[in-house]
Amino acid sequence: MGFKLNRMKKQINIELEVYNNINELPEIEQSLVLKAKEIAKKAYAPYSKFNVGAALLLDNGEIVSGNNQENAAYPSGICAERTAIFYANAQYPNQAVTTLAVAVFRNGEYAEQPVTPCGSCRQVMLETENRFQKPMRVIMTGEKQIYVAESVKDLLPLSFDSLD
Ligand SMILES: [Zn+2]
Repeated sequence: MGFKLNRMKKQINIELEVYNNINELPEIEQSLVLKAKEIAKKAYAPYSKFNVGAALLLDNGEIVSGNNQENAAYPSGICAERTAIFYANAQYPNQAVTTLAVAVFRNGEYAEQPVTPCGSCRQVMLETENRFQKPMRVIMTGEKQIYVAESVKDLLPLSFDSLD
């Protein structure tokens, strides 16, 4: 009984590096993570109480960081990743962002599991990656585990970009 639709399927796989300890990362990435954790504590997040910090490494070796800035009118606020990226793109318009680290501080402690950027931030990160034609490593930190993506494309399969 019934009939079978002959559907074609496509699978999309992404690969992430997984670390259990910050010390397993190269030194420069360790300092980026520490910077992200440090700036997370300075976030303005009175509504969510979810303090996020992002630190970027630019092609010229410069480190730029940012945190979330909330607002009583919720959509007017902005995430840590975009605060940092827009600042970097404003101050250093010719420098690719080669690595981004993100960390969360809430309830008086750093998140145990890796924190991943929201969809809007991924879209902005992708634009920056494409703009400079250089992959951006994304370090998503947690106290118990750290995920690293080689490129923003891994976090945004079937992405929409300027070619569309
Ligand atoms: Zn976001």
